[in-house]
Amino acid sequence: MRAFLGTYFARAMCRLAPHPIGRLPKSTKERVLHLSFDDGPTDDGTPLLLEVLARHDVPATFFLIGNNASTHPRRVREILQAGHALGNHSWSHVDAWSTPLRQTIREFSRCQQTLEELSSNPVRWVRPPYGHITRPVVRWCKRHQRQMVLWDTMPPDFADGMTPTDIVRSFRRRMRTRSIVCLHDNPRSKSVTPAALSQLIPQLIDEGWTFADLSAVGS
Ligand SMILES: [Zn+2]
Repeated sequence: MRAFLGTYFARAMCRLAPHPIGRLPKSTKERVLHLSFDDGPTDDGTPLLLEVLARHDVPATFFLIGNNASTHPRRVREILQAGHALGNHSWSHVDAWSTPLRQTIREFSRCQQTLEELSSNPVRWVRPPYGHITRPVVRWCKRHQRQMVLWDTMPPDFADGMTPTDIVRSFRRRMRTRSIVCLHDNPRSKSVTPAALSQLIPQLIDEGWTFADLSAVGS
């Protein structure tokens, strides 16, 4: 149920609002996927994800929580050195639907500033926690020329009691051509997500799937 909601809620949000994207554009090669990881960096989980991605030369975007990035700057540098992109996931995982507007905007601004100081580069991608979009955050993205990115596939690697096999199954059931897949880099996911990807990525490559970064997405 959680996988169903996690996936179809974001698909509905992308249909209702024109600004966020949840899928790679049509011009992108069809059997292509984009992997993204929310909530990191973490001291123990991020290296496991980086190792699996490096083994198969797969690019990804890490939507980081500013507070975690400032606690683990070394992990941020490792993500960048491996050639992956960073995204803004707010300073402390704010829920924009239940937080005053000014505080919400401060959360995104502070995370943006922290990530850009650490990377010495603009951070182009923004993903509101829970996919909770509000008009002011959409306007904030447009004003700062940042692109909001949701997802169209979310295996429940954030839930208790999952196994790597559950995640592989859910991933395969929900994925489509050009899917942006949302996975996690948090204390719950670390025991399942790297192991699931270790099985899944080589299988998908054998089946002719490729993995793209978000560069095909316009701002
Ligand atoms: Zn999150």
